Amino acid sequence: MASTLSPSYPILPPWTWPWWRPAPGQYMTLIWVLLIHVTAVIGLLLYPLPGWPLFFTAGVLTWLGGLGTTVCYHRALAHRALRLHPVVRELLIFLALFNGSGAPLSWTANHRLHHAKADTPDDISSPRIGGFWWAHLRWLWQAEQASPARYCPDLTEASYRVWRVLQIPLLTLSFFGGLALGPAAFFWLGAIRLVFALHGQCFVNSVSHLRPGTQGGEDSSRNVPWLALWHGLQGENWHHNHHARPGIAQFGWTATQVDLGWWVIRGLEQLGLATAVHRPKDLQSGLQGPAEQKHRT
Ligand SMILES: [Zn+2]
Ligand SMILES: [Zn+2]
Repeated sequence: MASTLSPSYPILPPWTWPWWRPAPGQYMTLIWVLLIHVTAVIGLLLYPLPGWPLFFTAGVLTWLGGLGTTVCYHRALAHRALRLHPVVRELLIFLALFNGSGAPLSWTANHRLHHAKADTPDDISSPRIGGFWWAHLRWLWQAEQASPARYCPDLTEASYRVWRVLQIPLLTLSFFGGLALGPAAFFWLGAIRLVFALHGQCFVNSVSHLRPGTQGGEDSSRNVPWLALWHGLQGENWHHNHHARPGIAQFGWTATQVDLGWWVIRGLEQLGLATAVHRPKDLQSGLQGPAEQKHRT
């Protein structure tokens, strides 16, 4: 981060700060993370067994939100590995936002910065540089966020800016919405679901960049099979594949690397709702298409 810090930052890099000190303008993120965790713990103590209907509903919401993040935010917006029909795109953005993934422009900018500077001090979430907890959570409120104007000038649709405005109302609905169904639903459809979804995404930045034996400058990304269960088999856990070929829409490359995000994309393609899907012509070749080259540096 050192080369991109603004003059208002203390001299020490943010991963050396105490965890509770947010970067300028990021205190709301810290408050949100604390709020959902404290509320989730209270909910688990009061209602440890919510019953199958609530458990199932929370799982479906989490899975759909994850789909919004991996298919739309990650593969379509950040890497331009496919193009989504606008209606599908907006629906997936709603689901991702409702799941606590943040607004599309900020997610895309931070993620493109991550790929461009991976495994260097300028990487926004490197565990090699800042340690596990920096990569897992702390960067969310302690790192200087990537500039959408710099990292995603191609995302010009007005709707992206509208979603940024809608973020707080939607998160308020996401947190409190379950109240309409009673106190157990308040906790399980709100904070507990949001905490589970948050850590699923955070593991991609932390454990998926802790490849044993790698050192400074080497690619630290790795495939993490157990994380597939946390992600509902949506494919984000095949992170080493993704760093090797970031411009293609398929993350799971073998029969055992299940990637339901890819299967959803194929289904959307059959329906004419996804186009320009970047496929690997030869997964072993290491050749990169234009989109891969563009967002790796
Ligand atoms: Zn990564
Ligand atoms: Zn990526």
